[in-house]
Amino acid sequence: MNVLVINCGSSSLKYQLINSDTEEVLAKGLCERIGIDGRLVYQKAGCDKEVTEAAMPTHKEAIQMVLDALTNDKTGAIESLKEIDAVGHRVVHGGEKFASSVVIDDEVIKAVEECNDLAPLHNPANLIGINVCKELMPGVPMEAVFDTAFHQTMPAKDYLYGLPIEYYEKYKVRRYGFHGTSHSFVSKRTVEFLGLDPENSKVIVCHLGNGSSISAVLNGKCIDTTMGLTPLEGVVMGTRSGNIDPAIMEFIAKKENLDIAGIMNVLNKKSGLQGLSNLSSDFRDLENAAKSGNKNAENAIEVLCYGIAKFVGGYVAALNGVDAITFTAGIGENAATVREKVVGYLGYLGITLDEEANGKRGEEIVISTPDSKVKVCVIPTNEELAICRETVALVK
Ligand code: AMP
Repeated sequence: MNVLVINCGSSSLKYQLINSDTEEVLAKGLCERIGIDGRLVYQKAGCDKEVTEAAMPTHKEAIQMVLDALTNDKTGAIESLKEIDAVGHRVVHGGEKFASSVVIDDEVIKAVEECNDLAPLHNPANLIGINVCKELMPGVPMEAVFDTAFHQTMPAKDYLYGLPIEYYEKYKVRRYGFHGTSHSFVSKRTVEFLGLDPENSKVIVCHLGNGSSISAVLNGKCIDTTMGLTPLEGVVMGTRSGNIDPAIMEFIAKKENLDIAGIMNVLNKKSGLQGLSNLSSDFRDLENAAKSGNKNAENAIEVLCYGIAKFVGGYVAALNGVDAITFTAGIGENAATVREKVVGYLGYLGITLDEEANGKRGEEIVISTPDSKVKVCVIPTNEELAICRETVALVK
C-alpha cells in the first residue's frame, strides 16, 4: 500500500509518499513559507528536485499543491489520489492521553486539541494538516503518530519534577520527552542489528541533531529521556540551552530587562551551540571554526560532548548496565568527532573505539572494537519510515 506521511509545521510542511511493501520512497518534498508567499519542493524517486514558487495562503493550498504534484501527468509518482491508501500524520504532543499511535477520528482530534497548551506552536499546526487532509481526501484512513508516545512507559520517578504536585495534578506538568518515533525506531533496530534479546536488552539512544535527546530503553520500553515538558530540556542543542539553573532566568531577565517571552526566546533560539559559539547553530560550521582555532567553537563542542557523556553515565545507572549505545540523527550519524569525544569519556564501561569504523558514514555500523564490553553503533534514523510502518500496522 502507499502511505502519505505528513509532518505539518506552523509555516511549513514535509511529506513523503512511501510504498509500504517495498519501503521505497516514491516522492518527497516540502512546502515552505505557507501564509507568507509559498514554495513547493517536489522530488519523484530517481528525478531531480522541482521547485515551484506559488501562493500558499493557508495549509489547504499547500496540501492541494502536494497532491497535484503527486498526481501530475508528467512528473507525478501516482496516477490518481485513489492510489494513496492511508495518511500518517506526525503529531508532536499527545500528553498523557496517547501512549501509542491511533486511527484519527473526531474523539482523537478533540483529545489532540486538549494537548495544544503543551505544544502551542506544534499541535495546532499538526491539527490543521489533519483537518485539511480529511477534507481533500475524504474516506482515506488517517493515523496520528505522536512524538511523545514512546516515552509514556516512563515511571513516575522519572517523569515527575520536584515541583508542587498540584502542578502535575492540575496542569499535567511533567516530563514527556520527544523524538519518540526516532528513539523507538533506532532502539528496535539496534536490538535487531546486534542480535540482542528484545526481552533482555539495555540500549541508550543518542539522537543528536539540531534538536537532541537521549533515551534509556529497557527491553524495548523507554524508562527515561532527556527532553521534558517541552523540547527545551536536556543536552545543549543547535539553539536551545538544554538544562540550566532555572534561577538564571530571573537573573538575566533583570540584567537585560526581558520579560518571560524574551527569556524563552533566548533559551529556545539564541542559546545552545549558537549561543556558546556566537557563530552558528550548525555543527559543521563549529567543526570548521574549531579547526581554525576558534576558542568559542571549541568550547561549544566540548560542552556538548561532555554533557552527552554525563547523561549516558546517568542512564547506565538507570538501566543498571548497558548492552549498546547508539548514535543517530544529523550530528550522531555524521560527526565522527562527537562520537569519538563521547566514547572517550566512557572508558570505564570497557569501551574502546574502532577509529576506522568511526570514520565511515551513511551505514549501520558498530564503531566499538570487538573486545569492547559494550557495543557502540551508528544507526541512521528514519522517522518517516517509522510513521509509515506505524500507519500500516493500524490500517491492517
Ligand atoms: P538534524 O536535525 O538531524 O537534521 O541534524 C542537523 C545537525 O546535523 C546540524 O547541526 C548539522 O550541522 C549536523 N550535520 C549534518 N551533516 C553533518 C556532517 N557531515 N558532519 C557534521 N555534522 C553534520
